[in-house]
Amino acid sequence: MQIVKTVEEILKQKDLSKDDIIQLLQTDKTERNLIYNRSANIKEQYVGKKAYYRGLIEFSNICNKNCYYCGIRAGNKNQVRYNLSDVDIINAAKFAYENKYGSIVLQSGEREDKKFINRVDNLLKKIKQLSNNELGITISLGEQTEETYRRWFESGAHRYLLRIESSTKELFEKIHPANKKHSFERRLECLHLLQKTGYQTGTGVMIGLPFQDYGHLADDLLFFKDFDIDMVGMGPYIEHKETPLYQYHNTLLPLEERFNLSLKMIAILRIIMKDINIASATALQTIDPAGREKAIKIGANVIMPNITPTIHRTNYQLYENKPCIDEGANDCSNCMEARIHLAGDEVGFGEWGDSKHYYKRQNIKVKD
Ligand code: SAH
Ligand code: SF4
Repeated sequence: MQIVKTVEEILKQKDLSKDDIIQLLQTDKTERNLIYNRSANIKEQYVGKKAYYRGLIEFSNICNKNCYYCGIRAGNKNQVRYNLSDVDIINAAKFAYENKYGSIVLQSGEREDKKFINRVDNLLKKIKQLSNNELGITISLGEQTEETYRRWFESGAHRYLLRIESSTKELFEKIHPANKKHSFERRLECLHLLQKTGYQTGTGVMIGLPFQDYGHLADDLLFFKDFDIDMVGMGPYIEHKETPLYQYHNTLLPLEERFNLSLKMIAILRIIMKDINIASATALQTIDPAGREKAIKIGANVIMPNITPTIHRTNYQLYENKPCIDEGANDCSNCMEARIHLAGDEVGFGEWGDSKHYYKRQNIKVKD
């Protein structure tokens, strides 16, 4: 006979099994709040009531890949392509520095050509220089060789985001073309290389994908733990009409449920990985205008204000109805600080807000 545990009992356990996590993911309303209270307490205790900014610069939507879910995939011929000038990127980084953001994220479509690699290398050095080494830099530039990862690390990037998208090979393969460019094994290998190079390594998944069930999501959370990841950014999958996955849009959970499931994923992750950095994904805001602040309240501690020059934002639509595409960087940061205060947190202005887990993993003592 199977013993049925209550949510309270599960939350008292030291370790959660896949079945426990599945049970937590299925909770509704009052039971859900028990999870959120616990995760908010853990956040306060282990990483503090602070949210750190990463000014997000989406510097190009040119991409060589064809992920089935993504609006800027190479095969989307309706997409107008752009590539910010170095001056625009540097200016956005200066904006972040002058406004005490502490860190930036450089993100773009995936390219592995020499010109691109050298350009990123140069930009990293310039941004470090203009900020007296003070600005932290996260990059999110997809799968690259070990040599490229090392070069960029040496030039000043210290965190890297590469989502596994789904930790279940079969599901990963359903949402990517079946070729070498989109291999699950390569993605995993790249994550290992990033860790080996010395980056604070971040990954994540999309929540509410077609073919995805609670078991997949529970496995994703256990994968992060098993991999000993330092940072996670995960958010709802949002369909895009000009992508192959759109044909399954009738099978998806309603947006509100995808949103709630994403919040539960964040809360459970905070409970099982107490000292990592968890980003509040921009996609949350597409569903609920206060979505990112809700995630901060229940466990996330990193937020990525978009500081890409406004005219280009409409073309970086990984998914439809991406928020804040018509606001300037200033408007964004003013409203964001007020919203974070409403969620009960302070903004860690001028701080890198590194992952405490990373230092623990490296056996380096952390300053509080
Ligand atoms: N090219 C890089 C970085 C840009 S894409 C890379 O792929 O790593 C960044 C993230 O956007 C992806 O990892 C994916 O998880 C997310 N994304 C893409 N399409 C999406 C969609 N339709 N809904 C939600 N997130 C999406
Ligand atoms: Fe390119 Fe990244 Fe979109 Fe895949 S998810 S198509 S790699 S931008």
